[in-house]
Amino acid sequence: MKFAEGNNKTRRQFLKSAAIGSVGLAAGGITVQSMALNPPAKPLVLVKGGKSTYSICISESASPSVRHGAEELQKFLEEISGARLPIVTDAVEAAGDLVLVGNSKPVRKLATQIPFATLGAEGFVLRTEGKTLVIAGGEQRGTLYGVYEFLEKVGCRWFTAELSVIPKKATLAIEPLDELQQPAFEYRELEMAETRDKHWAARNRYNGDFHELDDATGGKISYYPFVHSFYNILPPEKYFKDHPEYYALVNGRRRQEDAQLCLTNPDVLRIAIQTVRGWFDEHPDARICSVSQNDRRGWCECDNCRRVEQEEGGAHSGPLLRFVNAVAIETAKSHPDKLIDTLAYWGSETPPQKVRPVPNVRIRLCPIGACNGQPFERCVHDEYFMKNLRGWAKITNQLYIWHYATNFRHYLLPFPNFDELAADIPMYKKHGVVGIFMAADGEYGEENADLRSYVIARLLWNPNVDMNRLVNEFLAAYYGHAATAMRAYFDLSHQQVRPAPRGKGRHMWIYTEPCAPYLSEGFLAQAAKLFDEAEAAANDQATRRRVRKARLSIDYVKLVRSKAYEVRGDSYAPADLGQLTENFHAFMQDARSFGVTSLHEGDPLKYDEEQFAKRMKPYPVVTLENASLRVVVAPELSGRIIRMIDKATNTDVTYQPDPGERNYPDLGGLGLWVFSDYATLGLHEIASDPYEAVWEVASQPGPAELQLMGTCANGLKMSRTIRLQAGKPVVHTETTLQNTGSSALDAVLHSRCDAGPRHIEGSVVDFHSQDGNSVRRTLLSPELEPAGSHWYDGQEQPDGEWTLSGFDNGLSVVNRFPKDQVTRGLMIWSAKGQSLVRVGLWSAKRTLKPGETLTLEVDYEIRKSEG
Ligand SMILES: [Zn+2]
Ligand SMILES: [Zn+2]
Repeated sequence: MKFAEGNNKTRRQFLKSAAIGSVGLAAGGITVQSMALNPPAKPLVLVKGGKSTYSICISESASPSVRHGAEELQKFLEEISGARLPIVTDAVEAAGDLVLVGNSKPVRKLATQIPFATLGAEGFVLRTEGKTLVIAGGEQRGTLYGVYEFLEKVGCRWFTAELSVIPKKATLAIEPLDELQQPAFEYRELEMAETRDKHWAARNRYNGDFHELDDATGGKISYYPFVHSFYNILPPEKYFKDHPEYYALVNGRRRQEDAQLCLTNPDVLRIAIQTVRGWFDEHPDARICSVSQNDRRGWCECDNCRRVEQEEGGAHSGPLLRFVNAVAIETAKSHPDKLIDTLAYWGSETPPQKVRPVPNVRIRLCPIGACNGQPFERCVHDEYFMKNLRGWAKITNQLYIWHYATNFRHYLLPFPNFDELAADIPMYKKHGVVGIFMAADGEYGEENADLRSYVIARLLWNPNVDMNRLVNEFLAAYYGHAATAMRAYFDLSHQQVRPAPRGKGRHMWIYTEPCAPYLSEGFLAQAAKLFDEAEAAANDQATRRRVRKARLSIDYVKLVRSKAYEVRGDSYAPADLGQLTENFHAFMQDARSFGVTSLHEGDPLKYDEEQFAKRMKPYPVVTLENASLRVVVAPELSGRIIRMIDKATNTDVTYQPDPGERNYPDLGGLGLWVFSDYATLGLHEIASDPYEAVWEVASQPGPAELQLMGTCANGLKMSRTIRLQAGKPVVHTETTLQNTGSSALDAVLHSRCDAGPRHIEGSVVDFHSQDGNSVRRTLLSPELEPAGSHWYDGQEQPDGEWTLSGFDNGLSVVNRFPKDQVTRGLMIWSAKGQSLVRVGLWSAKRTLKPGETLTLEVDYEIRKSEG
């Protein structure tokens, strides 16, 4: 027979080159071992004219997956040729022509032995010997994978759970075969709902926890628990009351929420060992137990933890890995076949200086802050991650990666990361990585999910496979006559992020709130044209539906962008709310009909509908004006100032939120909130919510002054003045909080300006600290992730004012305050597809008895920078 496609040719050519030595090792980790005997001159004729002389022979004691492999071979050979090969066992001596599947008596009688010991659980050999075809590999999955590899050579493809391509051939002649394959990575998982199906997952050789694999389909690498397990190990509701010292000390307080454990407390270790042993006993199928940080920062600041961090070069991973190692060493004594896994994640990505992972520990390193637009070795923003990867690779040969394969804020966004995947999966291999988890969110309908699932499976098996060839063969099968237009769209989207000169080199992040800043309006227009072409070319209903489903990405971006609010007179609203509402409902109906289950992390579609109904409406605004400034206040949007415009240059210094951001349009500008405690407000981390307040206008004494009243259900009342100082470019704000309730309440006032410096790359914060130092901080540095935050407390705080520069027309914003009213400053910035600097101040934290008050005065001045 003629093998159906180029894959085989490449492999056969490789076989020849590898045959020089006895073992050839492809860079991708596929080992091809030449065991060439005297190959038969003639091909092996498995089926001729729809009839076969062959039987499929397995061991009488074959494992469920070997048995299933034999049945799969039987099923698909029959679909291909019409011939149904009987399955026999080696209980009696097999007669006639044989396909040997898995280890069995006749396999052990072959002229050249199959190296089962070196094949491991997943490797396999495909070989012809005389008239015998041998498909034999690891007992757990290897033989089954060998069957699928053989069927792929014959031309079978399982593109999706619904779409397979099985060729029709009445005659199957197999050319001499002699190859050995092993996966490049021992652990291969993609968390997309489309990959769940056990048959599809096995046929595409995923083996991770998320796939619904059973014994027959080869089982999987199971986790229990999967991730972020610190509070599972020590549930705060069980231990915190009596033992707050088990939990992280953050900002002077032991925390039972939104933080980590105290990892140097010996009782914490003792309980962890006990808990993990219990889990292994209760979940015998689990191979790996994750002892990993919560999905937060909040590292323990106690003296012991700090000391260990110091010893480990200041890395949070130091105390973490010492703790995880200790758990692993102890649990190995009772459960020697199990592994302990931990994350190198948010705050712990930097490797420790001294401690090394013990053999039964797996580190899962997460490039959470990386740009996925370009290969990691080519993007300046990913240098920080490459440095960490090299650091970990140096100290462990058991590194796993938690790679991100979607935009978590906008699942439907065009997310052109295939170039990145095709470069970075081999890059991981090169750095000695042994397992890859591709994170999505397990929902249906994420962008390009079907194509992604298929291509990633193959790259994880063999990172050197040609990604473009895979994309093309998938698109041809999936889109039929529409494939040309869909490939053009695929390229168009990748051109947005591809490095120059082939593309526009825009960066792309997995956790940005703004909706695809890397996509221009021009892109949307071109994309729409290509989708029109694809729909016209589609030759059947199923294909047309797939094109329409893919088009949801573009509809989504347009829909989100049409939510943008504008100030017109005394109203703040989208340009055409009526049309927007109609489009929104039509879009949601479409999304549902295509099986989409979520638009972003953590929320079902219903959430978006509720949010739309709640938030998308016109809001009244009040404009204040003096000679220098024009300021717009939206009382119902948390009483915030949404515009602060320098009249001379018509420059607005406030951050204009993107309509893709959560809680839009109640975002951006300047506002005031009351919390019960200092909140560790990161861009994506709000440890506690403020007290919910309803704001209204109390009075407007003049054109440059507004009085607002905010009321919380618990009895807290805020009286807030916003006044433009006469003749000066200064907004004065003054807020007095009073407890009008009947019980004491903890309260801290937080005043914040979300500024939008256009030139954030050169943005600088200047101030004199309270200990007399002159501080000048540049927010961004090229080799670091372009986002960050910093608390200023104690003597580090600004001495009554600080200045942020980088706005259009040489403008700066000066933030001034009476320092006896302020106990902390906070600066947060992001240049990930946006340009945002949050300048925050916190009052003293007080317990307000009924009737007591707390005041915070803050000024914001727009200043023309000198020079
Ligand atoms: Zn501690
Ligand atoms: Zn980049």
